[in-house]
Amino acid sequence: MGEAVIFLGPPGAGKGTQASRLAVELGFKKLSTGDILRDHVARGTPLGQQVKPIMDRGDLVPDELILALIREELAERVIFDGFPRTLAQAEALDQLLGETGTRLLGVVLVEVPEEELIARMLKRAELEGRSDDNEETIRHRLRVYREKTEPLVQYYEKTGALRRVDGLGTPDEVYARIRASLGI
Ligand code: ADP
Repeated sequence: MGEAVIFLGPPGAGKGTQASRLAVELGFKKLSTGDILRDHVARGTPLGQQVKPIMDRGDLVPDELILALIREELAERVIFDGFPRTLAQAEALDQLLGETGTRLLGVVLVEVPEEELIARMLKRAELEGRSDDNEETIRHRLRVYREKTEPLVQYYEKTGALRRVDGLGTPDEVYARIRASLGI
């Protein structure tokens, strides 16, 4: 029987860093839709060409495209980073986990105040030069998060899967909280 963990939280919360470490230490595959899409953009694939303008604006890529990627990349033990991001994606994932007999170990919500998120992303913009890390796009991505993704907090609270984790502190501190919250 498969196992899955979901990382939920606003852009800049540090989900990617934490998800990578957890994946390595537990021997899970990390499935980051943002990374997969950026890779398509970098290679100039047809999908990459289609999604680049959407990502540069800070909008969400259509659910069907995301779900096709997820079906392709699904593994027996998987950590989702940046997915699901809409209620439709969450419902589709529930179905997929059911079909494949995969148990959801928990949904980790990494919580960080908005001013700190903006500061972190502006810093990342300087260091990495991600084309969607400028102030206007950052504010738009935060709005999109509040509107489209935040409803998933309630969704997973209802099923009892939600684990709230304080995302402030050193990466090691946050990581320890995540492991404790999942009991793994
Ligand atoms: P962030 O650090 O802003 O959370 P990600 O690397 O997870 O960013 O995603 C970057 C961009 O990729 C998003 O702004 C969106 O355009 C697209 N994207 C990633 N995952 C999804 C998803 N599950 N559904 C729709 N769009 C997505």
